[in-house]
Amino acid sequence: MLTLENLRLTHGDWTLEADLNLAAGARCALIGPSGAGKSTLLGAIAGFMAPTRGRILWQAQDLAQLAPGERPVSILFQDNNLFPHLTAAQNIGLGLRPNLRLSTAEKARVAEALGRVGLADYADRKPAALSGGQQGRVALARALLRARPLLLLDEPFAALGPALRAEMLDLVASICSETGATLLMVSHDPGDARRIADQTIVIGDGRAAPPQKTEALFADPPPALRRYLGTN
Ligand code: ADP
Ligand code: MG
Repeated sequence: MLTLENLRLTHGDWTLEADLNLAAGARCALIGPSGAGKSTLLGAIAGFMAPTRGRILWQAQDLAQLAPGERPVSILFQDNNLFPHLTAAQNIGLGLRPNLRLSTAEKARVAEALGRVGLADYADRKPAALSGGQQGRVALARALLRARPLLLLDEPFAALGPALRAEMLDLVASICSETGATLLMVSHDPGDARRIADQTIVIGDGRAAPPQKTEALFADPPPALRRYLGTN
């Protein structure tokens, strides 16, 4: 279980509070207006900023003492996920070994991950020679290989068209099923949330609300979500 316990995050005068649990293995969307603190919340879980109050726990372990690389977390940002000077295979290999000195068995795992995302023939291409969708799949393959229990996605497919985005979401869903990962995914598209997430956290007005069942939430949205959706 992921626990945000009496949590407060601040940037100057800006604050976000959260006091909630997310069950292990859940697939959860994080939805709310621009500037609400979605990226900040994921960054705090990943260890890029320290809370000003409260704790972040995974399976009852306080993550505060763990550096970002030691946390049980893979995070995918909206962009800049790949190193431009490295090939697809090398970018994926970084998920296993930051120094890229891979054993034969590890190289085989990289090849397998490339195949898993449909890029078996693109191992030696650098990001500039890949489409946006292919780049996204390389980043996903790296996350797949890291197989950390918590997968945090910060609108990683926002630049893709609807068909490709749906394909990527389905891939994320199947990766999570296979690895048992707990997913927390920022999206500004309710359709994305409904496609992949059984639960949704609404964030706004300085607070991240406890996760609710996605279908029920969108069937009868609370005022903050209504405002966001523009349906009030
Ligand atoms: P979202 O991802 O929901 O759009 P962010 O988490 O990026 O929102 O930002 C939340 C608030 O924190 C915004 O008011 C933003 O300007 C501010 N903020 C984000 N990152 C920083 C930072 N590194 N330093 C200062 N303020 C920041
Ligand atoms: Mg953001």
